[in-house]
Amino acid sequence: MRLSKTFVPTLKEIPNDAVVPSHILMLRTGMVRMLSAGIYSFLPLGYRVIKKVCEIVRQEMDAIGGQEFHLPALNPKEIWEETGRVEAFGDILFHVKNRDYVLAPTHEEIMTFHARNVVKSYKDMPQIWYQIQTKFRNEPRPRSGVIRGRQFLMKDSYSFDVSWEDLDKSYMLHDEAYRRIFTRCGLKFFVVGASSGAMGGTGSEEFMVKSEAGEDTVAYCESCGYAANVEVATSKVSSPERETESKQVYEIHTPNVKSIDELCEFLKIDESVCAKSRIYISNNQPILVLMQGNDEVNETKLEKAVGSTIRPAHPDELKEITGADAGSIGPIGFNGRIISDLRLKDRNNLFSGANKNDYHIGGIDFQRDVKNIDYADLRVVQSGEGCPKCDSKLEVFPAIELGHIFKLGTKYSESMKAYFLDENGKENPIIMGSYGIGIERVVACYIEQNHDTKGIVWNKALAPFHIHLISINPKNEKVKNVSDEIYDSLTKSGFEVLYDDRDASPGFKFNDADLLGMPIQVIVGEKKLKDNLVECKIRKSDERFDVELNNLHSKLKELLDSLE
Ligand code: ATP
Ligand code: MG
Repeated sequence: MRLSKTFVPTLKEIPNDAVVPSHILMLRTGMVRMLSAGIYSFLPLGYRVIKKVCEIVRQEMDAIGGQEFHLPALNPKEIWEETGRVEAFGDILFHVKNRDYVLAPTHEEIMTFHARNVVKSYKDMPQIWYQIQTKFRNEPRPRSGVIRGRQFLMKDSYSFDVSWEDLDKSYMLHDEAYRRIFTRCGLKFFVVGASSGAMGGTGSEEFMVKSEAGEDTVAYCESCGYAANVEVATSKVSSPERETESKQVYEIHTPNVKSIDELCEFLKIDESVCAKSRIYISNNQPILVLMQGNDEVNETKLEKAVGSTIRPAHPDELKEITGADAGSIGPIGFNGRIISDLRLKDRNNLFSGANKNDYHIGGIDFQRDVKNIDYADLRVVQSGEGCPKCDSKLEVFPAIELGHIFKLGTKYSESMKAYFLDENGKENPIIMGSYGIGIERVVACYIEQNHDTKGIVWNKALAPFHIHLISINPKNEKVKNVSDEIYDSLTKSGFEVLYDDRDASPGFKFNDADLLGMPIQVIVGEKKLKDNLVECKIRKSDERFDVELNNLHSKLKELLDSLE
């Protein structure tokens, strides 16, 4: 494609509203433009990348026996009412005003609708049906460009099986296909396993990449691959042992001492002997939560331990419940339910608040002094703590979800009455799985992981073009003619070439070439042409070398073959 005739509106400056690198670079390279919050248009260069990702996804889905569908985005609302998901999605679901239609945020219902009409016998299964199609979600906070949009492309597939064992097979096929897809796209990813929550399935995995733009926080072990959302992650941490002798409980006047750090400073003690108190409310009842030192309460773990939803008590409730303000609360004299983190289990000679402002208590023995105490793992895992699976250390960082595989089971087939007849003529609900990949997120995450100060660094698989041909001075007839010839012959031979034939300064063109980031640059200038040479540059390594004109095709082929 000739740049003089293609709409690639590059920007020199960083656009105001963009913060994360992929968003900045997708705007600066003219890949996308925003139409409205969370709604993006893909321009020619960006759309070429989208098509490349889709092609890789199609090849790998076809390879596991997937059959491509194309379902409507406009759905009658009744179908969504069958599964109760009009309510479940709530404000996320876009409603069409003049009809009882919704814009589909995903397609479990529609695929199940088709399955119930055609998959009638065990002989009709297994099936894997997929599509690459636009989804609509009224995300409350669209951000980071196309990473969280209100309209986005998803590859979604659905498996239909007769048994749970067969579902495991369909699920594993997807797991392997996803690993191949993300590897072929050049992404460094990891897999977070999760036991299924409210969705009613029996297992799921999220494929994630590390990124500052991520809205999830994960704990990851580089050495064994352990990965878990911090909401559920555990770690190996040590704590002091119970001491052989327990002191008596004693009260200490601690004026203006509120935090654990202030208490340690005031009493010259270590934070590991402090029991920090937090009050939560569950079903209108107060719960005292005890943590070692500065350990943070993981509210997801706490909810699981309590068995119902919780909220932190408001400051004005604290006094009423304990007689003290935050910073002076503790287990001695507290009458409600007490849950402590495992790090404090059966410990003695601990310090905590006295439930009286400006006082603390020392010599606390949890076995002797705190009755009715339950223990659970309640900590938020921190970077540098021991991996629960091996001897290495965990790293905690933000991450983005690229894809998700999920054993749905019979949730949709039962609510939508998609039954089949088994070998014995008995009616059973179809056993389903659902599997998604965010296409734009793949592109954005690739850029997050592959850019430098000059711009994007494309690999062969996703690059909009493989070769960026630059004619340094098209006003010079020889330079122009030779560049045109190179462009025509390379294009005819099947190379994907972006040709900068614009009448602009060399510096401007070089900057654009680095910004746009095609893997190989071919630079045609007057001086080298005298010796029948052109210059080649590898964008990733910045390596430069001269190539003889009559050797250009074979050299470029060799270079492309050597690129990942
Ligand atoms: P998130 O937790 O990020 O909202 P999700 O759990 O809602 O994701 P799924 O419903 O599993 O996502 O959708 C499958 C895939 O679609 C996700 O893994 C992600 O790559 C992509 N995706 C989801 N929501 C968006 C969005 N608003 N914009 C772009 N891609 C999205
Ligand atoms: Mg979501």
